[in-house]
Amino acid sequence: MEVTLLNFVPYAAINLATGAAERPLMALANLLERKGRWRQAQRLRRKQTYFKTPYGYHWKLMENLLKVDQRVLFYAMTHVLEQSQRKLASSVSDDKEKQKHKVDEYEEAVWYGEQERQSILASLMDGPLKRAYLLTHSQPGWHLSEWQRAQCAAKGGCCARACGCCARARCAVLAKSYYGHCLSTCVCCTKTRGFKVPLDEWFEDPMLIDIDIKDRRWNKRQYRYQVLNAYIWGL
Ligand SMILES: [Zn+2]
Ligand SMILES: [Zn+2]
Ligand SMILES: [Zn+2]
Repeated sequence: MEVTLLNFVPYAAINLATGAAERPLMALANLLERKGRWRQAQRLRRKQTYFKTPYGYHWKLMENLLKVDQRVLFYAMTHVLEQSQRKLASSVSDDKEKQKHKVDEYEEAVWYGEQERQSILASLMDGPLKRAYLLTHSQPGWHLSEWQRAQCAAKGGCCARACGCCARARCAVLAKSYYGHCLSTCVCCTKTRGFKVPLDEWFEDPMLIDIDIKDRRWNKRQYRYQVLNAYIWGL
């Protein structure tokens, strides 16, 4: 939402009014988290964040962070796909060399993505938005919500089948375990589909969820409201 002169005054008033209440609310959410009542903590943070600020710098950083997460997941999946194709590559040494180069390239892309992710996290101010993201992403199976599984199934991902790929780590050979729903380079989806989706850039993947969080809708039927619930609040 743009901050014009007309809407700046009410937002400034809300910020002033909520400023005094912010610290006790943050402390309460942190206490709920420590007590294991994480959903209550997240609901409180959601209310606090939505009421306080218009779209701004930290929301933009959060949007970038979610997109970096998507990019890293894409390259982790592509790494697995290329590895599986490397095994199938003909015995011609040139083909194997070319395939090995591709594997290294995707592993590097994951590494660079991780660096960017850490830089964004370091820039994000400590507060309900950052804490909510970190808490959600630390929950085992956070990505297996009904809404996220339905989105995956609708796009023909593994959630439409009984293979269970989305519940498992996406790339066993990388140092970190990556979890997430199918993108075009999922090995299982590629086998089921019968062809590789030609992509010049990762963000052209038609199976990606559209991350655009400028408009934080309250209407529960809105797509963006569900995106925020899934990727930030974990609700
Ligand atoms: Zn599968
Ligand atoms: Zn899935
Ligand atoms: Zn899949």
